[in-house]
Amino acid sequence: MPRPRSVAADFWTWTWDRSGTFSVKTAYRELKQQQSEMQGGRSSSAGDEETWKSLWKLNVQPKIRVFWWRVIKGFLPARAELVRRHVGDVATCALCGNADETLFHAFVTCNQATQFWAETLRFFGIKLPRLYQATWTRDLLDPKFIAKEEAAVIISVMWTIWGSRNKYTYGETMFQPLRSMEISQEHIRSLYIPAKQHSIPKMRKVWMNPDVGVIKINSDATIDAMGGRAATGVVARDHEGRFIVRRFCPYAVITDLYVSEALGCRDAMLLAIERRWPIIEISSDCKIVVEDWNGGRDRSSCGPIFREMTSYLSCFQGFELKFSGREANEVAHVLPKRGLSTEMQSVTMDVISDFLSAAVHSDYVRSLNK
Ligand SMILES: [Zn+2]
Repeated sequence: MPRPRSVAADFWTWTWDRSGTFSVKTAYRELKQQQSEMQGGRSSSAGDEETWKSLWKLNVQPKIRVFWWRVIKGFLPARAELVRRHVGDVATCALCGNADETLFHAFVTCNQATQFWAETLRFFGIKLPRLYQATWTRDLLDPKFIAKEEAAVIISVMWTIWGSRNKYTYGETMFQPLRSMEISQEHIRSLYIPAKQHSIPKMRKVWMNPDVGVIKINSDATIDAMGGRAATGVVARDHEGRFIVRRFCPYAVITDLYVSEALGCRDAMLLAIERRWPIIEISSDCKIVVEDWNGGRDRSSCGPIFREMTSYLSCFQGFELKFSGREANEVAHVLPKRGLSTEMQSVTMDVISDFLSAAVHSDYVRSLNK
């Protein structure tokens, strides 16, 4: 059965801020950036002393503080820097080959870094803010620019990005985009950030069965930044945890995890409409999408998708979109990867497959023991 495609029209968004909302603060920063680029100089957003104070107070492992100090000082051997100092002769990024390997490229714009930021968004619910090449290393220590807890996560992620880059650059390992995505996931999940809890979303550890009469649909998405593609996956179960149906859909041209996670929720709704389920509960592990939807925020890049979802609400007697931790969403998590490897528009299966049955069974058993 053909699925309805998005009908929402294009719209304008303020690109210097994730929410798409204009603000004086973002405009000011952008102007400062342009000004400093024109002058060819470097303007720091915080005084030197403030920067160092924030750095030593940053709630990360000590070795990461030292790492960031080296970043600020420009002491890390990025190729472009080495060429400038006449130590090397190739400035191009060793991993993507798309640009000169500056530190800004390595940590922010490189395809390899993008995969880490997608995973950071998914796991910590934190999105890399728009950074300015002239001031970014210090801006991340400026509490007026970014909350301290978020800065701790972002700088820790940059540390893992650097470690991962070195493995490819100096090690035996070949850079493989899909493998690199898995590695970034492992790194992010094992990232240790010292106590004084940062904003790791409160996780629901086990899959909870819905009330009688409610169909629960777990939704997830993944992106292949280098291939410029995304895929969503959904799994529907009933109140006893019985598997009903699964589906995955690949999407060309989408490389924003936030957008693809929202598409996953939309796809869950479309599946429910096709099956005529009156009451559904969608479970997503993307905290930002769930919060934006429930908070009625639709000016972001997900606005058109949210508006499409809103138009479907009248098909349901009951509808809820809830956040669940990665562990409780494991069944859906394995699906989008399959979506990336198919050329078909969408694949729906009523029969449970081997790779899913173990996850569904363990959810079932654990929900009995909760
Ligand atoms: Zn690169």
